[in-house]
Amino acid sequence: RNSAEKFQFQAEVSRLMDIIINSLYSNKDIFLRELISNASDALDKIRFLSLTDKEILGEGDNTKLEIEIKLDKEKKILSIRDRGIGMTKEDLIKNLGTIAKSGTSAFVEKMQTSGDLNLIGQFGVGFYSVYLVADYVEVISKHNEDKQYVWESKADGAFAISEDTWNEPLGRGTEIRLHLRDEAGEYLEESKLKELVKKYSEFINFPIYLWATKEVDVEVPADEDDSSEEEESSESSSSEEEEEDAEKGEDEDAEKKPKTKTVKEKSSEWELLNDVKAIWLRSPKEVTEEEYAKFYHSLAKDFSEDKPLAWSHFTAEGDVEFKAVLFVPPKAPQDLYESYYNSKKSNLKLYVRRVFISDEFDELLPKYLNFLMGLVDSDTLPLNVSREMLQQHSSLKTIKKKLIRKALDMIRRIAEEDPDEANDKDKKEVETSSDDDEKKGQYAKFWNEFGKSIKLGIIEDATNRNRLAKLLRVETTKSDGKLTSLDQYISRMKAGQKDIFYITGTSKEQLEKSPFLERLKKKNFEVIFFTDPVDEYLMQYLMDYEDKKFQNVSKEGLKLGKDSKDKELKESFKELTKWWKGALSADNVDDVKISNRLAETPCVVVTSKYGWSANMERIMQSQTL
Ligand code: ADP
Ligand code: MG
Repeated sequence: RNSAEKFQFQAEVSRLMDIIINSLYSNKDIFLRELISNASDALDKIRFLSLTDKEILGEGDNTKLEIEIKLDKEKKILSIRDRGIGMTKEDLIKNLGTIAKSGTSAFVEKMQTSGDLNLIGQFGVGFYSVYLVADYVEVISKHNEDKQYVWESKADGAFAISEDTWNEPLGRGTEIRLHLRDEAGEYLEESKLKELVKKYSEFINFPIYLWATKEVDVEVPADEDDSSEEEESSESSSSEEEEEDAEKGEDEDAEKKPKTKTVKEKSSEWELLNDVKAIWLRSPKEVTEEEYAKFYHSLAKDFSEDKPLAWSHFTAEGDVEFKAVLFVPPKAPQDLYESYYNSKKSNLKLYVRRVFISDEFDELLPKYLNFLMGLVDSDTLPLNVSREMLQQHSSLKTIKKKLIRKALDMIRRIAEEDPDEANDKDKKEVETSSDDDEKKGQYAKFWNEFGKSIKLGIIEDATNRNRLAKLLRVETTKSDGKLTSLDQYISRMKAGQKDIFYITGTSKEQLEKSPFLERLKKKNFEVIFFTDPVDEYLMQYLMDYEDKKFQNVSKEGLKLGKDSKDKELKESFKELTKWWKGALSADNVDDVKISNRLAETPCVVVTSKYGWSANMERIMQSQTL
């Protein structure tokens, strides 16, 4: 077209498209899910705007918030349209080609190693998956504030944009036309599209229609001149009567047979492919495990086979009413802790009375629970205010408080249902069921993926510190390489033991050889190993648990119960300790004392009660260097 303006794709986008075009990836189906997801996002946006501006939806067909799929078998075109927000000319240029999103290069990189194309949606570049099945794509779009434009590209490094003067006006929204490759013919089959929508887009909250051909039975006259005139009789013309008579003459039974016949005829109509009743509005009793798993996958844009580790679906009542579904994902995303203190991203979607508001509300969950996925739908929050106003709304505090509680309960339940977590004494009583197999080892899995979040929670959330401490798992001198809880530690404490003992360092192997443990081991006390850098911070906040104090065994103040010889020893070595303290001078040590923590090693340097442990010194040093 003459008037078309040409643009080059941004370099990373171009590389991404090359990868997709040349991909041998067999699961090409995913493009449909990505397009439907984009259509749904666009509909969410216009619906959100319409809350504060009723005019924005327009009238007639423009008010239909739905997604429509159409096929043209002859021309091999599959098109998907929505009446969402649409794109202006500038949007088309930016969103579809010239501004690379942060996820673009990450995804390109991933695809070059062992990436799974299935994850494309998570990286924010799902649109380009259209080139798995099409070699030419047109995007026709109409935004309220601009004319209708066509974006088109054959994925040859460039795209073109023209003002649309030839297609039918869209009113508002976007139509994506895929000119399918020869080998992608299966996507011209209605049955295939129905199957895909069922499989991937079940939880889209807008109706998805397919322009489907139906074979319908149509009653047509059995014969051209055949009619029911025998009942009308006399008024009919003579010639017709004659013919009727002639017919009768040929076949006596003709009169009793119907005078019409059924033929199959093709007709097309919109067929609704999904059930738009939101899963969170259903009663938890009616939702199956499979449905929750599928819902999780669609929320997370994670279409692997891994099931979420746990979920919680509940209705909160009282001053603030809301429904929520929370999930613990099967795996932590790679960058969960990388930029912890800068990251604000929560994975909760906020709905108000079924209307999607935002997935960037960081007021809903504390940062340490950012690994959770899910949604909140509130009836209490106002609909007709801006996101900024909502963010300030007092109800959010109540919602947050309840969500934290429910989240921690859900995590606790993973442990409670895990047969591996049972205390030895409980184990004998527990009968094993087939359910146990599935739950077995789930808490260790959770701990491996998200344990650090629990530790960060203990540091940051004073209100829930004790609840979080219950979820803590540690290795100890007696845990035999396995994880154990503080409750289990306490249940094994020796008679007369007052404190919970722990030691910090870089590795368990290093700590096991520590002279600080000699006496404790000999006396059969259990000591917790803390080897993660975050543990030092953790222990500055976790002072006690169930009325037991935590005691770092490398610090001053270790008491292993009364020893009758203590006083005697102190007395007889008084001269030595006095001399030693003087010899080392006050710059180097605070004090020199007789120790009750050693067995073989003659002496050891101990940190003062309120000072940093040697391990903390090491961590601080590595951070400032
Ligand atoms: P994501 O959906 O994660 O943002 P995509 O690659 O799927 O990434 O889409 C890129 C962008 O193109 C979207 O963010 C949106 O701005 C725009 N877009 C795509 N499809 C549509 C559509 N049907 N209506 C309006 N905008 C769209
Ligand atoms: Mg998308």
